[in-house]
Amino acid sequence: MTKECRSPNDKSLWRDLRKASRFGLRHSSFLLLLFPLALQAAENISVLGSKPRWEVLEDYQQTITHDEFAHLINDVYCTHGLAPDLIEIKDDTARILMSRETQKFFTLRFAAGTGDRKPVPRLWRPAKSLPGMGREKPLSGLTIALDPGHLGGKWAKMEERWFQVGDSKPVQEGDLTLRVARILASRLRELGAKVSFVRNSDEPTTVKRPDDFRELARKILVTNGVPQPRTDVLDPNDPAQEQTIRWQSEILFYRYSEIRRRAARVNFKLHPDLVLCLHFNAEGWGDPSSPTLTDTNHLHLLVNGSYLAEELEFDDERFEMIRRLLSRAYEEELPLADTIAMAMAHETALPPYAYPTTNSTTKVGTSGYVYARNLLATRLYRCPVVYCEPYVMNSNDAFARIEAGDYEGTRSINGVERKSIFREYADSVVDGLVDYYSTARGTRNGGL
Ligand SMILES: [Zn+2]
Repeated sequence: MTKECRSPNDKSLWRDLRKASRFGLRHSSFLLLLFPLALQAAENISVLGSKPRWEVLEDYQQTITHDEFAHLINDVYCTHGLAPDLIEIKDDTARILMSRETQKFFTLRFAAGTGDRKPVPRLWRPAKSLPGMGREKPLSGLTIALDPGHLGGKWAKMEERWFQVGDSKPVQEGDLTLRVARILASRLRELGAKVSFVRNSDEPTTVKRPDDFRELARKILVTNGVPQPRTDVLDPNDPAQEQTIRWQSEILFYRYSEIRRRAARVNFKLHPDLVLCLHFNAEGWGDPSSPTLTDTNHLHLLVNGSYLAEELEFDDERFEMIRRLLSRAYEEELPLADTIAMAMAHETALPPYAYPTTNSTTKVGTSGYVYARNLLATRLYRCPVVYCEPYVMNSNDAFARIEAGDYEGTRSINGVERKSIFREYADSVVDGLVDYYSTARGTRNGGL
C-alpha cells in the first residue's frame, strides 16, 4: 500500500486532501498525499533530500543515443510533461537544468549510434551479464535484497497500516510483508540466489524518531498555510489531524527518514542486482477499529517513472531521475516486473488494478499489471526495483486468508481450497523470477 508525497506546492491538492479526509478517505491507497514544501528553498531540495551531485553524471557521457534518451524521457519518466527549461533534448546533447536560480546546466552528450555507446557504469548486473546458467541453479550468482514494506509491530497504528475487525487479530501490513519476505528468502536461497534484507525486524532502520522532526513539521505546516499548528491529534478520527505537528513529525519519521535510510543501506552496503519491495494493497477502510470490508481484490506492480511536473521542479528529484534513467535500470526492471506480474496473476487469479486517474501513474509494459510511478523507494534504490502490490487486505477474501495465518498445503477458505496467502505470494514471485532469469540466462556457455 503506497501513499506518498506529491505536489508539495499545490494548494488545491492540499484543499482536496483536507476535504477527502473529512469523508474518511485517508486510508485509501490512491489518495495522493499532499506533503510539505521544501524548506531548503534556496537549494530547492525535496523533504530530507540531499544536494544533487551532478558531476557523477559525467561518467554517463556517450552511453545513450538521442533516440533512447528521448524515448525514456517521453514515454517513461516525464509522461506528465515538464517545464521547457528543465530538460532540452537537442540532436547531439541534452541540456539539463541544475539550478534555476543560478541558471547552471548539465550537458549530456549522446552516443552517435547504438554501436558507439560506451559501457554504462553501474554496480548491479543485468541478467544478460550474469554468467550463463549451465547446470547451475536458475538464480545462482544473483544477489537480491528484499524490502518488506513499512514497519509493523508497535508502529503499525502510527503508520496507518493497521485495522481490526471485531475481536479478530489486527491486520498490520508491515508484519505481513516481513512474513512473506522470510518465506521468499528461503525459497530464493534454495534456487541459488544470495538474499539480503533491507528490513528484517519490526523496528525502524532509521535512528531518528518522530520527536526529532517536530521543528521541521511545524515549519512545513506554517509554509503550507497553517500559521499556528496544533501540537497533538485530538482523537483518531480528527479530520484535521494532518495539520498537527504530531502527524507531520510521524510521517517524516516512518516514511521519509525510514525510506531514505533504507536507500542508504541498499546503495552503500547491500549492492544488490535487484530489490523486491513487498507490500499488500488496501481499499479505503474508514475507521480502522470498524473497517469496511469489500469484495474488491486486485494486483499491480510498480517500477520507477511517471514523474509529476511539480516533482521535476526539485533539483534532487530531477537529478535522481536522470541518474536512474542513465543507469538503464528500466530496461531490466520492466521485463522483470512484467514476468513476475504474469506469474503472480496466474497463481493468485487476481485482476489488474486500475488506478482511478492517470494523474500520477503511467501504464507500462505488456502484462497489463505494471505501472510506472515515482515513489521514494523506486527512485532512490540504485538498481532495478520491482514493487509488488498484490491483494486488498480489507477484501473479504484476503482478510479471511490473512486471519487463517500461514500453513502447509491447502485449506478451505470461504469454501475454496487455498494455499496460505503468504506462501502463494512468495511462490508466485519465485516463479516469475525463475521464468525471467532462466530465459535471460538460457543455456549459454554449453550448459544443458
Ligand atoms: Zn504498503
